[in-house]
Amino acid sequence: MNIMKHALPGRIYKVKQVLKFREGYVPAFLKGPGKIPNTAPPQGTPGVYLNHRYSEDDPYSPQYYRGKGHKKEGWCPHCPSGSWHKLKQSGYHYHVQYHHGYSASAKTHIELPDLVKLGREEGSKNQALEWLGWCNSCNRWLQLLGRWSRKNKGQSNKWFKHMVKVSHHASILLSLLELICATRSI
Ligand SMILES: [Zn+2]
Ligand SMILES: [Zn+2]
Repeated sequence: MNIMKHALPGRIYKVKQVLKFREGYVPAFLKGPGKIPNTAPPQGTPGVYLNHRYSEDDPYSPQYYRGKGHKKEGWCPHCPSGSWHKLKQSGYHYHVQYHHGYSASAKTHIELPDLVKLGREEGSKNQALEWLGWCNSCNRWLQLLGRWSRKNKGQSNKWFKHMVKVSHHASILLSLLELICATRSI
């Protein structure tokens, strides 16, 4: 029987341990991606057309488009009832990557932390305790969620943003290493 109601501040937990706490106590994204609702635009939505390069193995890219040019929008199948987002102003990119956690470059779900704790991020002026996750690349504790914003209809996901940044840096480093190796072997 799980009798714990609250996490102990500063104590390190595995994600699966904190998921036993009551709903809403820990950031919901820690549950993992789950099943994609895979909603389609409502029948009869004008101007909908298919992305011919769509693949089921790619949960990031849209299957449906509407509009052309700077008005072109992609359909997000991850929202419970779906939603349209502009492709030009990176609205789609931002929404699917940072709200739902699907990487635009890897086309997979962004890695979640293994370890979490309630604490304060180093240098944070925030007095309240917040959920932190351990980043294996930087070897430090990071805030999982940012401030509440109307645009995001909730708190922004700092973890997803950080993971995208880290993997971007890692891929630059890798191509640099490949370049060095290639020039050395000439
Ligand atoms: Zn969505
Ligand atoms: Zn990091």
